[in-house]
Amino acid sequence: MEKTCDWVIHLCTNGVCDHCGETETGFHQYICNAHTHGMDKYSHLDFQLVLNFPPEEIGRILNTMGHRVRHGERFKNGDLISGIYEDCDVRLTTFDEDGRKVLRVIIPDKYNRFPEDEGCDYPYIMQGVDEEHLYHKEGIRI
Ligand SMILES: [Zn+2]
Repeated sequence: MEKTCDWVIHLCTNGVCDHCGETETGFHQYICNAHTHGMDKYSHLDFQLVLNFPPEEIGRILNTMGHRVRHGERFKNGDLISGIYEDCDVRLTTFDEDGRKVLRVIIPDKYNRFPEDEGCDYPYIMQGVDEEHLYHKEGIRI
């Protein structure tokens, strides 16, 4: 697979923002708002991931989806995606992100339970909530 990406990833998480220098503390634990910009070049929705994995893992997942779009695959709400993890599929669900629609990559917990399944573990269950609920009430949005 080629290395170049003609999309960007924004990773918004708790801590000091690289771009603006302000400190974000409002996210629930283990939650972030990572998303791509640029998939519109391919007439495709951008992707989002809200589990606060290490940046390399977030990049691997979102860039894999981006490369697959560039190579001609098209994804939509409800699709189950193999090839991200060896032992389970992930699912795409449409959510709002900053006023636009994105396809959120939903990853099942270790028992293969999705957020709507009974007993889904935290933080995996948080993948089923709207963007505004990814934050504590007292959190400051940036
Ligand atoms: Zn962004």
